[in-house]
Amino acid sequence: MSENLKGLLIVISAPSGTGKTTLSHKLLKTFPSMEFSVSYTTRKPRKGEVNGRDYFFVDKETFESMIKEGDFLEWAEVYGNLYGTSKSQVMKALEKGKDILLDIDTQGALQVKKNFPEAVLIFILPPSLRELEKRLRKRGTDDEETIKKRLRIAREEIKKAFFYDYLLINDDLEVAFEKLRSIITAEKCQVKRLKSQVEKVVKDKEIVLLLKEAENG
Ligand code: 5GP
Repeated sequence: MSENLKGLLIVISAPSGTGKTTLSHKLLKTFPSMEFSVSYTTRKPRKGEVNGRDYFFVDKETFESMIKEGDFLEWAEVYGNLYGTSKSQVMKALEKGKDILLDIDTQGALQVKKNFPEAVLIFILPPSLRELEKRLRKRGTDDEETIKKRLRIAREEIKKAFFYDYLLINDDLEVAFEKLRSIITAEKCQVKRLKSQVEKVVKDKEIVLLLKEAENG
């Protein structure tokens, strides 16, 4: 792990309708050190979406030139549109000690794992495919064809779940959130992550000195 990267890179993926967005928002509220990574996309903004907050909305030409320049940590085509995570945005935040949350699809998550092995990958499963279908219908935002397509893609995404580091089921939102919060807390306490910033974590100067002596000796 690079000595300069003090923050945690968290990747969350889940089939559409699993409750990933709700869980992500709860995480961001719980951990003040955490920031959401705003992706680039060629998809058109939906009603209420704000450029720079939800996504950076760009045209295909701009996106393709960013690919050529190597600007993306990962990118993928999802539902016919291109989506990508800015490498510099993520790295700058991690260097500042921020934890970064990526809400990306399975293709992108696997690229992150390859390019950035210290990332923490979390996959959220719905309790069942039947329940997922019910939730998608209840949401009322998609027509029949889109629901069918989302379910088809959900099946493909679920097949990738074992590539992730953690797996949790969103049956009960509070239970799922508690698990998610515990995963992040445990990851943040790992010795390998704390070593480079021991002064920030341990307030007692004597203990800091002891730990440094032990590391050097
Ligand atoms: P939506 O268009 O509904 O906001 O997102 C569609 C899908 O694209 C979601 O599964 C979301 O996780 C994924 N997605 C959003 N941003 C990115 C990104 O930067 N990279 C990748 N690979 N997927 C993304």
